Amino acid sequence: MKQACLIKLNGTVQGVGFRPFVYRLAHAHRLMGWVLNAGEGVEIWLEGEGDRLEAFRQALLDDLPAAAHIARLKVEEQNPEGYTGFRIIQSQTGGKLTAHISPDLALCPDCLAELRDPSNWRYQYPYINCTNCGPRYSIIEALPYDRPLTSMKGWQLCADCQQEYDNPLNRRFHAQPVACPMCGPSFKLLHKGQELSPALTETARLLREGAIVALKGIGGYHLACDARNPEVVQALRERKFRKEKAFALMVKDLDVADKLVYLTDDAKTLLRLVAAPIVLCPKKLELSGVAPENPGLGIMFPYTPLHYLLFDLGAPEALIMTSANHSSEPIAYKDEDALAQLKGIADAFLIGERPIVRRVDDSVLRLTRLGPIFLRRSRGFAPAALTTLPTRETLLAVGADLKNTLTLVIEGQAFVSQYLGDLEHYHSFEAFKEAIHDLCTMYDVDLADTVVLYDAHPDYYSSQYALELPAKMHLPVQHHQAHIAAVIAEKQAWKTKVLGIALDGTGYGEEGAIWGGEVFCGSLTEGFKRIAHLRYASLVGGDAAASYPVQAAAGFLAELELPDMTTEPFNFPERYLSAKDLLSKKLRVFPTTSAGRLFDTAAALLGFTRALSFEGQAAMWLEYLATGQAAEPYPFPFLDNTLDYRPLLAAIIKDRLAGRVAGQIAYAFHAGLAQGLAAMIETLAKDYSFEAIVLGGGVFQNGLLLELLSTALVKLDFPLWISQAVSANDESISLGQAAFGAFASASQQNA
Ligand code: ZN
Ligand code: ZN
Ligand code: FE
Repeated sequence: MKQACLIKLNGTVQGVGFRPFVYRLAHAHRLMGWVLNAGEGVEIWLEGEGDRLEAFRQALLDDLPAAAHIARLKVEEQNPEGYTGFRIIQSQTGGKLTAHISPDLALCPDCLAELRDPSNWRYQYPYINCTNCGPRYSIIEALPYDRPLTSMKGWQLCADCQQEYDNPLNRRFHAQPVACPMCGPSFKLLHKGQELSPALTETARLLREGAIVALKGIGGYHLACDARNPEVVQALRERKFRKEKAFALMVKDLDVADKLVYLTDDAKTLLRLVAAPIVLCPKKLELSGVAPENPGLGIMFPYTPLHYLLFDLGAPEALIMTSANHSSEPIAYKDEDALAQLKGIADAFLIGERPIVRRVDDSVLRLTRLGPIFLRRSRGFAPAALTTLPTRETLLAVGADLKNTLTLVIEGQAFVSQYLGDLEHYHSFEAFKEAIHDLCTMYDVDLADTVVLYDAHPDYYSSQYALELPAKMHLPVQHHQAHIAAVIAEKQAWKTKVLGIALDGTGYGEEGAIWGGEVFCGSLTEGFKRIAHLRYASLVGGDAAASYPVQAAAGFLAELELPDMTTEPFNFPERYLSAKDLLSKKLRVFPTTSAGRLFDTAAALLGFTRALSFEGQAAMWLEYLATGQAAEPYPFPFLDNTLDYRPLLAAIIKDRLAGRVAGQIAYAFHAGLAQGLAAMIETLAKDYSFEAIVLGGGVFQNGLLLELLSTALVKLDFPLWISQAVSANDESISLGQAAFGAFASASQQNA
């Protein structure tokens, strides 16, 4: 007997070849009806024999296209209307826009084969793509995802492209950015005021000859140069004012990667994701100036046709590929901005005609004992919905000021934006405002009917801006509780009682204190209570001290018996003495429990006495020192709900004076932290009941600490949770705020 049903799907189902897939499937199962893109996702009307409908539904889930992801599937029984074929019909607008925007996808193997096939009409065409690959988020102007609403709207399809675009059985059926050399955009190369051609061959030559070239990619401009040429690497550092921070590389293929880093199977899997992220791997070879004082090297594979072509045309096989921006600012993505900002840095500009609608930096992952973690979640992942929250409210969470991201929640689905940089920088703050406008426009959000969440820090730019936004309600969220809530949001463990440990550099605590070593107990439904913390220290200069390890050290060492810190082996500079002076006069002194500043203090004691040139540098340096070492843990006792760092620091000073190898001291410091935390958890488990341990905050991006801590916790048998879909650092704050908002907004309204 004939039956009918309407299937409504939500998730990443637009721009990933979903409708052609459904079309082919319906034909294979001899079913009638239609499929269309709606604001909320995809709708499928099916008519046919009951068992075929059933088989279709099963195949739909089993054979999903690689980049597609179904978040929700609803089936409604219907009366047959007598359709005689199966068609793909016009997109529908209206209704709530909750369709997931597909992230940008790396070039697929089919398109790569065509790119390299001299008999193909898209041979060496740098904008080749299909429904399985190519740009998405970075070219979408509005939903639903259709060509007139993308940055490809200005290019009329030629007859050949149109034919592919219209053919449901073709790989390019409704591939919105489809183009060819006849009808699509192209690249041009500008060098010293002249246009060189052929653009790509000449770019490869310039790179070979030691030039720095600005390349327009998917989500912005990169600066590229030969990673094996120390002079050009040095020139890039000088021109970009980037003294020490590691550069990421793009390598031609696996063989090249294999020469530079140690690759595990897991690392290879990450490198080959359709998101094509940067993966931080242990160094095998030292390339001068590329990643100084760093045990790892970030590498990625080519992910656009342009990248493959440059390598095919003879570019050096390992290229530095760094975001074209100033440190802590998001990537430059507009041609005029790039030309203006990069004048004096780039020798040449390879400019593509296809406009980029929004900036998206490369994502960065590293492998740890607890699995892969994000160091930055952006291109290839944003803005996919991360999780579902139990709320019908529309929520906008604006995150924190460092490493900002936004989270928008619609119909319970949490969309986390790309990385937007540090908001104290002008371009980052502009990007932040743009992104709020962008997300709200795209999803048709009325802010007046939205709950806006922000960090409790009264001086944050993000908080002040949030309070200016029209909203149904403004709710502040404490920074470290947001860190813990972000992990819980991912696990969807709303009622689970957890012990949440948040370790980071800085966050606004109570009464103006700078927190960063906090222990909470509770759940999202019942709320969290701060039950323990790092012992308070004094911090001269507050958040500004984050750039000077010796300034942090002045406060953390204040209660210890000290030798002369200005001579061997410590050699603390003048800044330490002036900090001590301010401390004794109680001028600009703030109480702090910051674990980040404790790392800085340890680094200062081991020789990192200069200013940092990027955030988190001293802690990374310390991890680098400790890597490959072994030593007994230093004491880090837990008494009166306080983790006391004094014995830990006293042990470092003693061993330093005794001339112990710095690497061993650094290892003993890490091991001490891990063992101290484990002992604390054991003690707290006697007084409090909790079912899982949650780790949040940037300190937990330290791979060695995670390894030592998970080992120390094995005997305790608690599940250990950490952010895996977002970075543990402040990129996770907006998600945590949103999770908080899902519960807090309901209770506030009832109150
Ligand atoms: Zn493709
Ligand atoms: Zn064409
Ligand atoms: Fe934080």
